[in-house]
Amino acid sequence: MQRREFLILGLVFTSSYAYAQMFQTVPEANATLIQSGKDKYACPNCGMHLVKFYKTSHTHENHQYCSIHCLYEATQGVIPKDAKVVDTITLELIDVNKAFYVVGSKVRGTMTRTSSYAFGNEKDALMFVSDNGGKVMNFAEAYAVAAEDFPQDFSKSNPVAPVTKIEVPKDAKCPICGMFVAKYPQWVALYDGEKKFYFDGVKDMMKYAYARKLSGDKFYVSDYYKLAKLEATKAFYVIGSNVYGPMGSELIPFASQEEAQSFARDHNGQKVIAFDEITEALVKSL
Ligand SMILES: [Zn+2]
Ligand SMILES: [Zn+2]
Repeated sequence: MQRREFLILGLVFTSSYAYAQMFQTVPEANATLIQSGKDKYACPNCGMHLVKFYKTSHTHENHQYCSIHCLYEATQGVIPKDAKVVDTITLELIDVNKAFYVVGSKVRGTMTRTSSYAFGNEKDALMFVSDNGGKVMNFAEAYAVAAEDFPQDFSKSNPVAPVTKIEVPKDAKCPICGMFVAKYPQWVALYDGEKKFYFDGVKDMMKYAYARKLSGDKFYVSDYYKLAKLEATKAFYVIGSNVYGPMGSELIPFASQEEAQSFARDHNGQKVIAFDEITEALVKSL
């Protein structure tokens, strides 16, 4: 085995290990999977593993999604009538219209900062709220909250000159989390080394850099508004804002410090930092 392959396996192992700690994960024997063939285990929207994110899983038509976030994206805001969701307690798929959703608890969600877990029994939902906080909602309300994950800022993106973007092959998956990167053009980052690797956010890009002890030289990020390809070492990053990427909290890149500061003002950003100020501890805390 070549050294590079070995390192990639190491990363896959590390991330599976992290998944093993997650609240969403269940033993495969307890998961009901409705898709078949080679796609059985993958969310058709983001590519993530359905057993690892089982407790937030939703089905619609013949598809099974990892989360209400991916269901929302796949249905494009048109509320689906036939959807089902996993009951967090029984692990069975239940009609979303009969489910009690706990939204915004402190238990981490899937693909979103605002977590959302469903229960077939209202008492179970209330018990979950008393342990973990959050609010009980019906499906339509939880679906509306999922809509808030999708940035409204695209309208501000009005490039005067054509920009060079990072071109992502359709099947490229983030080596850290396994998601299809092309689905998230706003968040694309790139390692352009002996081989190219694509990431669905600066956070996963940095995890990769730390795992392989790479300097910032061959890394590129996408300007959040204009999507222009930027050298990672020259960009400015907003942290702690209320805009979340596909993997949650992010370092959000901008070409200039002014743009980063203006975004931080609009979106409760905590701080604007340069590439050199990004540390492994900071990335872990996101
Ligand atoms: Zn998904
Ligand atoms: Zn990723």
